[in-house]
Amino acid sequence: MVVELISVGTELLLGNIVNTNASYLAEKCALLGLSLYYQSVVGDNEERMAETMRTALGRSDVVIVSGGLGPTKDDLTKEVAASVLGMPLKEDKHTRKRIEEYFKNSQFKIITDNNWKQAQVPAGSIVIDNKNGTAPGLILEKDGKSMILLPGPPNELRPMFEETVFPYLNKLQPETICSAMVKICGLGESYVETQIADMIEKQKNPTIAPYAKTGEVHLRITAKAADEKEARKLIKPVVKELRNRFGNHIYSTDEKETLAENVLNLLKERQLTLTTAESCTGGMLAARLTDVPGASEVFKQGLVTYSNKAKRKLLDVKKMTLKDFGAVSEKTAKEMAKNGAFITGADVCISVTGIAGPGGGTEEKPVGLVYIACCLNNKLTVKEFHFKGNRAKVREYTVARALTLLRSCILEAEGKEEKA
Ligand code: ATP
Repeated sequence: MVVELISVGTELLLGNIVNTNASYLAEKCALLGLSLYYQSVVGDNEERMAETMRTALGRSDVVIVSGGLGPTKDDLTKEVAASVLGMPLKEDKHTRKRIEEYFKNSQFKIITDNNWKQAQVPAGSIVIDNKNGTAPGLILEKDGKSMILLPGPPNELRPMFEETVFPYLNKLQPETICSAMVKICGLGESYVETQIADMIEKQKNPTIAPYAKTGEVHLRITAKAADEKEARKLIKPVVKELRNRFGNHIYSTDEKETLAENVLNLLKERQLTLTTAESCTGGMLAARLTDVPGASEVFKQGLVTYSNKAKRKLLDVKKMTLKDFGAVSEKTAKEMAKNGAFITGADVCISVTGIAGPGGGTEEKPVGLVYIACCLNNKLTVKEFHFKGNRAKVREYTVARALTLLRSCILEAEGKEEKA
């Protein structure tokens, strides 16, 4: 089945906003096993929009249009789509009620006339409720083709796609597509790919697609079968084989679980409390951990000790250590972790100190040099890293590797090796 995307909005044409909806939708279509040959961007202009829609309908089975469903005069998507498909607009009572409810619960209590425009839908269309806004999504079916209209704001579009459009598209296909995500930390992308080169080479159904993330590699396994049960059956042995090859480096097979969440769960299960002591990441590690709801059960405090003075004052790093070895050294990282745990009374402290650049590097200590130490129940582990990339990348890698080190220290304490 062939699908095509149209993004509506003059702001998109002018480059005022980045078209993240197109990349999101394209990725989801690939996941569904749909063929996508064309994407277009069109401004808020009736004629050009109609022409783009007609062209798309002429060559694709499903056309997904995003944006231009708002209440203002320049929001034309629904009207143009209805006219192109010859479907008259009529009021949808359910949507009218939902808009009333939406305003009752929002800070804007007055409903203006143009808001009622959003309750008008093409006769016979499938209405998709919008939990985060007023514009409903719409599925228009005509002569074996479907046109799917979604609002532009990503926080509205994404949940509507996940909950309604994804299952709708999956049903249109003769086969069901299912996938699983295997998330790996602590190993580089090329190493992972080499380890599974044989599996990728002979893959047919399921397929394995690697995605490199900062400090992580994700492998998506996608299977096609008559129904979901059959597809899951095909995926299972592949996940098992990946577990054989990567052992505890696989931190999750749950699509939604992040590395920070996984680490916090490991700590929670073992009733261990955590402190962070950060230099070059300036609190990013603590922020990543506290992004996870419920982090407070585990996370005690985060210390940002950027200067030498702060390292001395808050973490009791020895003057001699800083003088003889420098702030970016194995010894400083170790003292930060050990003293951080002791001073805050936490079971675990993870520390980072490094040179994020672009300045500050020397031949002996170049930009990208980072030390990460972990003190778990008085046992110290320290690692040296040389990260490539700009300041932002070095800091992101540091956070990912700190979480990975923390995770491996927890597992090692129980004698669970991270083989591979
Ligand atoms: P609204 O109900 O807010 O008017 P809409 O369906 O009319 O929504 P647009 O007016 O096209 O959508 O866009 C509203 C906002 O949504 C934009 O200002 C932008 O912030 C975001 N947006 C729109 N299209 C995209 C896109 N393709 N990628 C990312 N963000 C987008």
